[in-house]
Amino acid sequence: MSSSMNIHLLGHIHRIGRKARSLNTLFTIDKSEFMGIGTLGVRSWVCAWIIRGSAGFYAGQPPLNRVAFQRHSSEVMNRHLNDPETRFLVFKDGKPLMKKDESGSILFLTKNQLGDDELGKEFGVAPSDASSETKKYYETSRLPHTQPPLVFLGIDDRQSPTTNSSSKVDHLNPQGPAYFALDAQGDTLNWDELLERENGEWGDARSSGNNMSPWDAGVYAQGRALVDWNARNKFCPACGSPTYSLWAGWKRNCLSSVQPIEGKEPCFSTKGLHNFAYPRTDPVIIMGILDSTGEKMLLGRQKSWPKGMYSCLAGFIEPGETFEDATRREVLEEAGIEVGPVRYSSSQPWPFPSNLMVGTFGRAKDGQTIRLDLDNELEDAQWFPKSLLQSIISSPSGSTFSKKDYKQLDDKAQSHHDQESSAALAPSEKKPDELVAKEGELGLSRVPPSTAIAGQLIRQWARGELDLVSKL
Ligand SMILES: [Zn+2]
Repeated sequence: MSSSMNIHLLGHIHRIGRKARSLNTLFTIDKSEFMGIGTLGVRSWVCAWIIRGSAGFYAGQPPLNRVAFQRHSSEVMNRHLNDPETRFLVFKDGKPLMKKDESGSILFLTKNQLGDDELGKEFGVAPSDASSETKKYYETSRLPHTQPPLVFLGIDDRQSPTTNSSSKVDHLNPQGPAYFALDAQGDTLNWDELLERENGEWGDARSSGNNMSPWDAGVYAQGRALVDWNARNKFCPACGSPTYSLWAGWKRNCLSSVQPIEGKEPCFSTKGLHNFAYPRTDPVIIMGILDSTGEKMLLGRQKSWPKGMYSCLAGFIEPGETFEDATRREVLEEAGIEVGPVRYSSSQPWPFPSNLMVGTFGRAKDGQTIRLDLDNELEDAQWFPKSLLQSIISSPSGSTFSKKDYKQLDDKAQSHHDQESSAALAPSEKKPDELVAKEGELGLSRVPPSTAIAGQLIRQWARGELDLVSKL
């Protein structure tokens, strides 16, 4: 997607024959992009996706080297598994194992600390008499299937030069500790002992993540999404039989392909193109919509949000939509505003459980009136002038939220719709006691901090840093 966008944009640059530096120029040259507005959908809402650290938070930056091609090899995976330097990130009910009394510090375990019982069996290989067709069903498999999910995450090759070069990291042959994620489901008796011994505790999924270092957060986000996906896909969607893990946790397959299931015909999912299930990533669009002058931004709020908080509009991308179409549809549904040109800005993983936030900027067409009655998901939406947002983002309390604010959002996090709402706040850089949010003009007193993609979009524009052509 990004490469096609780059090509697309390069075309624009070629057409205008110079580097356009203002947003107005960008939008002016792009009349061809005034395509139709997407059809009205059902789910849409305003939300703010907030992270701590840089825009790459939950993406790791630099990320683990995933060496995906190694996942096929049981031999290589078992070598990593048995390496005393290998680190294991453990989850229980989606909660990460953290160091006790050390906020934001993951307790990575070694095999020696874990013990064989908790880790389970090595990754399996096909029976020696298996046909070449059958062997693929055993590639780095985890059988018996009842063992807790174990997922290979990658190798930390940040520091270790390879033997091929004394100064450069060879990313194709990375050296450094391997990382796995393990789901500590089932009997907790041994885990209780282990926690006591290693001084660990099960952290809260969201607040623990928000307090991690950016690099740890990337490992955490990847591990949590994969462990969660494995845990949610225990049964074959085609026949209802159990599934098992293969490719070191990156695929699941119907158990009937490796062992007969009593009373059941061989599952059709084991044949053809639909024989495996893969991890999913659900894209959510989040957008900074500007008026035709480029001097005002459209922000909204839900009734359940903390007082005075407004953020960018957002919603799930639906099947068959481009980023641009989803941006236009959501803004029309939420605020009754038609949007013309749209440009991709940046993205952030959000592992609760498996979202990818896709940030865009768009420009509204002239002469429209905001209306909230189409899907009634917003309490309010308004055009906010740049000067007001500049004063809010420069104010110490302009992006400060208390524990009560987070709880207010988390309490709403029961439905699909509110999944995003609960992500609207993350711990700010300020202490909770420092919370002050005075009502300002238009009822807006707070926006997401710069550690959120919504906060990034707002600040980029308010500070005059919006320069999409040169950035892309
Ligand atoms: Zn099946």
